[in-house]
Amino acid sequence: MKIAVDFHIHTGLSPCADEDMTPNNIVNMSMLKGLDAIAITDHNTAENCKACLDVAKSKGLIVVPGMELQTKEEVHLICLFKGINEVLSFQQLVYDQLPEKENDPKVFGKQLVFNEKDEAIRENKRMLIISTSLSLNEVFYEVEKREGVIIPAHVDRGAYSLIGTLGFVPKQLEIKTLEISRRCNLTTFLEKYKYLKRYKFIQSSDAHYLGDILERENFIEVEEKTIEGIFRALR
Ligand SMILES: [Zn+2]
Ligand SMILES: [Zn+2]
Repeated sequence: MKIAVDFHIHTGLSPCADEDMTPNNIVNMSMLKGLDAIAITDHNTAENCKACLDVAKSKGLIVVPGMELQTKEEVHLICLFKGINEVLSFQQLVYDQLPEKENDPKVFGKQLVFNEKDEAIRENKRMLIISTSLSLNEVFYEVEKREGVIIPAHVDRGAYSLIGTLGFVPKQLEIKTLEISRRCNLTTFLEKYKYLKRYKFIQSSDAHYLGDILERENFIEVEEKTIEGIFRALR
């Protein structure tokens, strides 16, 4: 069956995202838009994943816990996991590899951690929107170890993307799916990059505002509408 997904959504924990990107707002907006599954993907952190999963539990929306990680090569990777334990263990590794710098909320925005009632329970003070010291190879190894999946983010963009930064998709990396931005036309893109035809593509919103979240416009084929089914389709 085909399910409508948006696997790249930021919460108010990403400094660049709107403070209205709270667990209930995101889940409710995704349901209003008719989505079957979403992923929560903040920059180098996963601290709002649990509240989003808890909110969605009774509502029939699948929330995949994830992170948009920035490698030391300045490449953004969407890292998705089956459960909260896996994403939090990955987050610990990422925090150990983040430079010890403080976020300046006046310049970059606040980094808010929410509970399942949408209350901001604290601010993350570390600078999250920065390269970790993890290499591409290390990230693929660590995500694979936790049975997760990696989708290189917005590969059509010039900055912070696998193709924009490296100029190619390394063959040794376990990649099945690439993400393109919402406004990218896949046909035109593949005319330019013919060798990418062997990959699957998904389009995601990279939502920083509630209104950005996709409608029923990007689908994946799954055997069953569960987290397991989604990972079987993506891995
Ligand atoms: Zn990005
Ligand atoms: Zn993003």
